[in-house]
Amino acid sequence: MATVPDTPETVSMCICEGCPSFPGAGTLFCARGKSDQAIVRRGCICPDCQNFRRYSLSDGYYCVDGAAGEGPR
Ligand code: SF4
Ligand code: SF4
Repeated sequence: MATVPDTPETVSMCICEGCPSFPGAGTLFCARGKSDQAIVRRGCICPDCQNFRRYSLSDGYYCVDGAAGEGPR
């Protein structure tokens, strides 16, 4: 699986702040890894994100499960 680079452009594409599960802080979890906040899974809008398509992501919930490409889930 492709991993996502941490750049100003990819950060600007991240739509996590508009997600019902957003933990209240953080961004670009697909690159930076999971949040240290407790998160209730209320849906993940990563599939609507341009980074999701551009980097051929397939999972979502990176704020809970960790960065894309960190290994099998
Ligand atoms: S795929 Fe998800 S975590 Fe990654 S930049 Fe997009 S919205 Fe943020
Ligand atoms: S990684 Fe997915 S579930 Fe977590 S805040 Fe971003 S869009 Fe929501």
